[in-house]
Amino acid sequence: MDFAYSEKSLALQAKLRAFMDDHVIPRHAQFVEEAGNGTHVISFMNDLKALARAEGLWNMFLPALEEVEPGTRLSNLDYAPLAEIMGTLPWASEVFNCSAPDTGNMEILHMFGTEVQKEQWLKPLLNGQIRSAFSMTEPDTASADATNIETVIRRDGDDYVINGRKWFSTGAASPNCKFAIVMGKTAPDNPNRHEQQSMVIVPLDTPGVMITRNIPVINHESYESHCEIVYRNVRVPVTNLLGEENAGFAIAQARLGPGRIHHCMRSIGQAELAFKLMVERTLERKTFGKFLHEHGMVQEKIARSRIEIEQARLLVLKAAWLIDKYGTRAARNEVGLIKVAIPEMQCNVIDRAIQVFGGMGVTPDLPLMDIWTMARCLRIADGPDEVHMQTIARTAVKEAKNGPRDSYRFMTPPDRDKERDLRETRPVAAE
Ligand SMILES: Cc1cc2nc3c(=O)[nH]c(=O)nc-3n(C[C@H](O)[C@H](O)[C@H](O)COP(=O)(O)OP(=O)(O)OC[C@H]3O[C@@H](n4cnc5c(N)ncnc54)[C@H](O)[C@@H]3O)c2cc1C
Repeated sequence: MDFAYSEKSLALQAKLRAFMDDHVIPRHAQFVEEAGNGTHVISFMNDLKALARAEGLWNMFLPALEEVEPGTRLSNLDYAPLAEIMGTLPWASEVFNCSAPDTGNMEILHMFGTEVQKEQWLKPLLNGQIRSAFSMTEPDTASADATNIETVIRRDGDDYVINGRKWFSTGAASPNCKFAIVMGKTAPDNPNRHEQQSMVIVPLDTPGVMITRNIPVINHESYESHCEIVYRNVRVPVTNLLGEENAGFAIAQARLGPGRIHHCMRSIGQAELAFKLMVERTLERKTFGKFLHEHGMVQEKIARSRIEIEQARLLVLKAAWLIDKYGTRAARNEVGLIKVAIPEMQCNVIDRAIQVFGGMGVTPDLPLMDIWTMARCLRIADGPDEVHMQTIARTAVKEAKNGPRDSYRFMTPPDRDKERDLRETRPVAAE
């Protein structure tokens, strides 16, 4: 395994850090003020986007760009540290056209879109002219199991007619959000539950699309917006289908591989920010005659946080390296590991920083509550922890079933031979 960054990545990291220092971080206070006005429009966003694009800091997330498409063409491994730098402030990725859910949607369109779909939807997304949403989760079905999805996509001549209710369609409240990729059932009676769903592109101005609310998360209405959307008799041409009919589940899986790495790297950026704020604070405040960093219990918080961040980063780099070398499928287990480990680490590190700040830690004067909110949501979004842990455990059990059952060699009970005989003859549990 080789996690060394290429020269190209190192040069971009330096450039990106300078851009963040010069143009993004100085705008943070203004962003917070404007984000609070509920319009989902930031006055300086387009100017910053133009500047980032002119500097070549654009679409860095997509490795397999065509020659004609704007972007940097980096491997996942080379992109990982860049996502971390952009992730420091949750809103910054949009400046570089590297923010969710657009990145995942661009990946889908790249992999499964027709030439016409690419021209109509991918091109303006790659150019940062429009934004998009991903509409899978439903309030009335347990969506952690995507086979439960109940939205109906019924073929009617040359059209699909869509009926259903979705929520947590992130980004849909932005006036710049022009379409959603909607997942629903085209073959609800197919005996294979993973081949009942399809994905279609739905322009948000289609009659019957109703954004009924922007759902606050942790009682906080965010700039990015998490919308509830009703689709009532929404009619789109069959040419809006993505990939094959009934292949929506597989497309959703393909979308989430690199997307989860991106989220995790951004999370590490936010954990680093919390760490920096925490350590600097300990240099400034004194209690009981000592600076905070001189108290053993604070030192433990600092040490644990450093250890956990470093562990997390290495695990994400391993997943990125695996995807680059062997493809998303080969990295499935590691992607599951990071999807659980990193938001948990992020929550823990930010929580410690909040504690070290005392009362100020829970005020909006610091970014800590906002990034903790993001971290907490990530333990649910893109599939809750438990679903990933279920897959991780199943993989481990399958490997054990298929591997040699010889752990008795490490045991030293007096009746070791009896133990071995017992194990070798014990039936393997059914699938
Ligand atoms: C901030 C945010 C942004 C989001 N953005 C989007 C988006 O853009 N598009 C979109 O479509 N969705 C989005 N989601 C939705 C998210 O993907 C779903 O909330 C998630 O998949 C869980 O589905 P659910 O809410 O229906 O929970 P349910 O399916 O009802 O599950 C509830 C809980 O049950 C438990 N559980 C479930 N399965 C198992 C299991 N196998 N073993 C043990 N316990 C289990 C878990 O604790 C889980 O949290 C977003 C969510 C959040 C919070």
